[in-house]
Amino acid sequence: MSKTKYIFVTGGVTSSLGKGIVAASLGKLIQARGYSVTIQKFDPYINIDPGTLNPYEHGECYVTDDGAETDLDLGHYERFLSIPTSQANNVTTGRIYDNVIQRERAGDFLGKTVQVIPHITDEIKDNFYKLGETGNYDFVITEIGGCVGDIESLPFIESVRQAKLELGPSNVVSIHLTLIPYLKASGELKTKPTQHSVKELLESGIQPDVLVCRCERHLNMDIRKKLALFCNVPVTNVIESIDAETIYDVPILMRKEKLDERVLAKLKLKYKKEPKIEDWKEFLGRLKSPTEEIDIGLIGKYVELKDSYKSIAESFIHAGAVNECKVNVHWIHAEDITKENVGKLLKGLEGVLVAPGFGERGIEGKIEAVRYARENGIPFFGICLGLQCAVIEYARNVLKMKGANSTEMAPKTRYPVIDLMEDQKTVVNYGGTMRLGAYDCTVKRGTKAFATYGQAKIRERHRHRYEFNNKYLEEFENSGFIASGINPETGLVEIMEIKDHPWFVGTQYHPELRSTVLSPHPLFVKFIKAALLQKSAIEVI
Ligand code: GLN
Repeated sequence: MSKTKYIFVTGGVTSSLGKGIVAASLGKLIQARGYSVTIQKFDPYINIDPGTLNPYEHGECYVTDDGAETDLDLGHYERFLSIPTSQANNVTTGRIYDNVIQRERAGDFLGKTVQVIPHITDEIKDNFYKLGETGNYDFVITEIGGCVGDIESLPFIESVRQAKLELGPSNVVSIHLTLIPYLKASGELKTKPTQHSVKELLESGIQPDVLVCRCERHLNMDIRKKLALFCNVPVTNVIESIDAETIYDVPILMRKEKLDERVLAKLKLKYKKEPKIEDWKEFLGRLKSPTEEIDIGLIGKYVELKDSYKSIAESFIHAGAVNECKVNVHWIHAEDITKENVGKLLKGLEGVLVAPGFGERGIEGKIEAVRYARENGIPFFGICLGLQCAVIEYARNVLKMKGANSTEMAPKTRYPVIDLMEDQKTVVNYGGTMRLGAYDCTVKRGTKAFATYGQAKIRERHRHRYEFNNKYLEEFENSGFIASGINPETGLVEIMEIKDHPWFVGTQYHPELRSTVLSPHPLFVKFIKAALLQKSAIEVI
């Protein structure tokens, strides 16, 4: 049917086994053999996209260049493969049903009863094939969210069954990721949950070609043979996925287990012995043997769930490795910070990052953290709401605009230094209506931002409704807080920095969404450099 090869990754036994990381690692290995690869995620929930979900529910919402609000696994795909994803890479049950229902209303199925099979499954399959049909990819890896056996996953699993049939055995591989728990009391690894999970898959008509077994102890040959026998796969296709020190080890671990070779062999593709992953190994080398160490405070309000700031945490890892520096991120709850304790809470940090966010909760703590960093010359990085807090702080404490605020927090403030964007004023729906996706930005020469990017034309991803109020720009710039990046079409302020400070930069966009292992984001790299300088300055004193 098509030249593109399809790999489906399902999960069993429990969620959170790292399907996204396994998919991204396999993608990386295949890409490193010279193939073009993309990875897509199908999520079984009813929301049209995760944009309206609270970060506590679902972790970070990852935004693509084309402005899609997507699952955080897409962040892993980009960080591993260094190629952008798009709306087509993340599809939910909600979107599938929405598409089908819209077509039903338009009369596309006139006279017919619209049903899960074939209408919903056809729509799912159309979406499975969409990226492959562009002709841009040799491989499309599809991760199915949730677990086999979940009621809401059923239409997706059924669609995988149909797709396997349509595509033919030499064009498709199905991988099942399961858990092999270790029972401490008896000192044994147990295969039973995996047997049950594969049985469940078989009942749905899918025989997995490869088993990837998440485990905390190595699988010996006896266990592998047992799994092979009960689950009906060749023993060579039982792949161990042992707990790793870092997610970036997983491609190397999968390589050792020959996951990529098993997949290529199943597809009857010839392969050379080794994929080209020297640069990846180099990154790992730097990551694991740092010569320096710094402490950075991440001020946020969803800090209980680290996945809420996934891309920021990963960006620190990428940028830390470039600098051969271990970055200890201290997660500090914005609501815990007060004027009185800020000095104590942030003491000893070599850098402060104020995180993105929505709503009033924690905002005053964030503003205090900004003040502390500004007044004490501590490198500061504000992202989205973080920049907005920096603007509010500067307005209140330097420009003496009492009660200055964002109209998001205080609609009636006398000094609306952050205000709703003009085209947001008529928006009524919440889903997908922010300023989303990649926009051009012109960086001013002679600024820290320019020294960081080394070029004037950049493009970065956004997710916000509010912006710097240009009515106040002159006043800010006259006192040394300058706009160093501007949207060339709309004049919106995208980057601001304080001239007279070691490193104080805020961005209205989200640089963390573009940092990858092999191409760390320059702003994070520079922020860490500034923090390192800060550390040596403190040590000199
Ligand atoms: N709440 C702010 C806005 O909508 C900031 C958003 C963010 O930090 N992503 O503009």
